[in-house]
Amino acid sequence: MKSISHLTILGSTGSIGTSTLDVVARHPGRYRIVALTAQCQDNILFEQCLRFAPRYAVLLDEGAAMRLAQRVAVAGLDVEVLWGAAALERVASLPQVDTVMAAIVGAAGLRPTLAAARAGKKILLANKEALVMAGRVFMDLVQKHGATLLPIDSEHNAIFQALPHDYSRHHTDSLTASGVSKILLTASGGPFLNTTLSELKHVTPEQACAHPNWIMGRKISVDSATMINKGLEVIEAHWLFNAPADAIQVVVHPQSIIHSLVQYVDGSVLAQLGNPDMRIPIAYALAYPERIETGVEPLDLLKIATLDFVASDFMRFPGLALAYQALRAGGTAPTVLNAANEVAVVAFLNKQIPFLAIPRLIEDVLADLPVTTVNTLEDVLSADAGARVVANELLIKSTICFS
Ligand code: NAD
Ligand code: MG
Repeated sequence: MKSISHLTILGSTGSIGTSTLDVVARHPGRYRIVALTAQCQDNILFEQCLRFAPRYAVLLDEGAAMRLAQRVAVAGLDVEVLWGAAALERVASLPQVDTVMAAIVGAAGLRPTLAAARAGKKILLANKEALVMAGRVFMDLVQKHGATLLPIDSEHNAIFQALPHDYSRHHTDSLTASGVSKILLTASGGPFLNTTLSELKHVTPEQACAHPNWIMGRKISVDSATMINKGLEVIEAHWLFNAPADAIQVVVHPQSIIHSLVQYVDGSVLAQLGNPDMRIPIAYALAYPERIETGVEPLDLLKIATLDFVASDFMRFPGLALAYQALRAGGTAPTVLNAANEVAVVAFLNKQIPFLAIPRLIEDVLADLPVTTVNTLEDVLSADAGARVVANELLIKSTICFS
């Protein structure tokens, strides 16, 4: 009989978190939820506690945790409610947990995800920002502690599926060693694929968050609209597959049916296709190397009929070029790019800056800060903090310009 997998879901109330619980609920004998976490959404977390009976429920926010603890007590649930950043790390590294879904959004997910790596867990990585900001440190910890890293991002999950089973990222030239010539990373192009540069000046957060193919959290929705998401994914692919920037090509594919492709030296190209539903990559990683039911509608190619491909437009979406530039610069550059983007996205969502100011702010922050080497987590955290200070300073100046 198969042993039961014990899970911690970091960010269980979000888009990826709830999709993960949806898959888990379809396989009650296979998975057991040990811990669920969120920032401050105690109402959703309470509903999840009722349904999944975790041992721990963690909120970052103390007030939200107090409210949850009270409701848990009234309902007579055997759930221990914890709060704060240290508790997130604790539940990511519990001895009884074998698998951690890392689905917190942004840099806030770094420490708990690294805690899971240090504890040698199987990490299902949705939180791409953690890998972008701390690539080398993260990958070194995974290797040192024998953790397993499985990509949840649909593109990277597709690439993982299309690479040879014995693919190793530990060669000096991993792609060549496996006969791979190129990784083709598909992009939907987001909600503004056909929006002109002059129209982009006036787009609103609501328009930016209305993605044509995927239902996602607000931060990644804005990242998709600027295409910085694809830039973060290029950096993510670099670390996951030990692929140089030149071997990662972005291809805009508006239908989001082909989730990415691997091109081999013999001319073969292997792709993974499916309806755009994150339960597919989540289930693949949860059950790897097995396949399980997800509830996703089967792909009907005749209904899709057409698959289009176009080149990405670096003029309208300069964020993608900035990410390639940061990857090539190495060291702290991707950390700075990620931090500046997080500050810019919050400012855009709060209607402090216009859409096109997002890549401009990132560019200015990158230009302001020298690239330094990354050897330790402290190097990452200080580059992240430094970039946020500069980004906020520039933001104050630019907000005055834009108001
Ligand atoms: P979301 O905003 O829907 O959910 C984020 C989750 O993280 C929530 O549970 C929230 O409570 C928690 N959280 C937010 N800030 C926190 C903090 N400071 N401390 C602790 N917890 C915090 O986001 P999402 O769309 O589910 O995305 C999660 C991650 O997965 C992101 O890194 C995103 O890039 C990645 N991802 C998402 C999708 C998707 O389809 N949604 C696809 C690929 C990758
Ligand atoms: Mg993706």
